[in-house]
Amino acid sequence: MSTNILERTSRAVGKEIILSGRRTPIYRSVDVLVCGGGLSGVAAAVSATRGGARTLLVERNVVLGGNGPLSFDLALASVDAGFAAEVLKRLEQSGDAGRDLFGDGLVHDPEALKYVLLDLVQGAGVQLLLSSWAADPIIREGVVRGAMVENKSGRFAIPAAVVIDATGDGELAMRAGAPMRALYEPATIAMNYRIGGVHFARALKGQADWPRRIAEAKGSGALSSDQPDTLALYGVTDAARERGVAYVRGPSCRIDGASTIAHLGEQEARARTLIRGFLPFLRTLPGLEESFLIDVAGAMQIGRLRHVVGGHVLRMDEVASIREQEAMAETVDPCLRPRGLSGLLVTGRAVSAEPAAWQALGAGGSLALGERAGTLAVQDLAALSAT
Ligand SMILES: Cc1cc2nc3c(=O)[nH]c(=O)nc-3n(C[C@H](O)[C@H](O)[C@H](O)COP(=O)(O)OP(=O)(O)OC[C@H]3O[C@@H](n4cnc5c(N)ncnc54)[C@H](O)[C@@H]3O)c2cc1C
Repeated sequence: MSTNILERTSRAVGKEIILSGRRTPIYRSVDVLVCGGGLSGVAAAVSATRGGARTLLVERNVVLGGNGPLSFDLALASVDAGFAAEVLKRLEQSGDAGRDLFGDGLVHDPEALKYVLLDLVQGAGVQLLLSSWAADPIIREGVVRGAMVENKSGRFAIPAAVVIDATGDGELAMRAGAPMRALYEPATIAMNYRIGGVHFARALKGQADWPRRIAEAKGSGALSSDQPDTLALYGVTDAARERGVAYVRGPSCRIDGASTIAHLGEQEARARTLIRGFLPFLRTLPGLEESFLIDVAGAMQIGRLRHVVGGHVLRMDEVASIREQEAMAETVDPCLRPRGLSGLLVTGRAVSAEPAAWQALGAGGSLALGERAGTLAVQDLAALSAT
């Protein structure tokens, strides 16, 4: 099956138009252009800048952090080296990371993470362009040499010696014609939300009774039948407990790689409506009588859509190698380089990896891959200026 979404779209629509060339202003020329300011993109940009490269980070949202904080995915790996450890240390020092009272391992406050990433980016001297969409790669003689960026001011070219695709879905790699492995696997994704006013001691005592109370409310019509059958709180560190704040795993839906954006949008609207309908019931439970909605996650995020196919495809038995400096060059570096394409590195969610291997990497893995991509970009830059 073709993995090119552009081909699939034009096949589905059955029509296409030819756009003529147009003059485009140059926003800025840089050594390294990083597209996407999630965990991996931030790590890549900081690492490239610290390595001496003039680096521009382009992010479509108004804030850094990506998929994880946006969807209230709060899991963190306990790491003791590299950029990932730097991020973790800052979160722990401010009391914004810790063990989850509800047993979800190490978790963090997503707002605090966004600030930590912003501080690291600014502290390193990375140039930052927010609210801007990296649209198309600029390709010269088969080599990626920058990207076209769109924002409210218009369309711009950003020439760069090396481009790092950290968009999470390998958007630039795909448009540059890199081989991609699309995943059509079904997944369950949830619209999570955050509540305040929780009295944890009483809530924890009554927890075992929640499924029965939900079933009863559904039976009596107090809750509609399409509401979730379970209630699960998570993301409660000591600091969150003191503040009476918890995250709730919200209504979910099944999607797969063939789901359209329109379908996802319908599910997001449906989930938001369900959350509003659930809140009055929530306040009937012991310990949650005074609970109130703080905010709903920015989006229902799909964990993975596709992986680029690189010089090597990371296997499950090689996952540990991302933490071993000696193994990096042999095992990890070829995974960051799309097969048959130069000038572009692909890091983060779309990295060249077996789906299970990527899943095992975790958020710490995204940071480690990004950091390595930044290092490789600096090496490539040095090689370019030597020629
Ligand atoms: C449902 C779900 C499942 C998860 N499953 C896993 C898992 O199995 N394994 C795992 O390791 N981690 C998983 N995570 C955790 C975590 O989200 C990821 O590890 C981490 O977010 C990946 O970081 P990233 O930087 O690669 O991608 P993202 O966090 O997706 O960051 C990509 C960034 O690029 C930006 N962007 C996208 N396109 C463009 C564009 N064209 N121009 C400019 N900016 C752009 C986005 O706004 C975003 O900020 C999951 C998270 C969620 C929500």
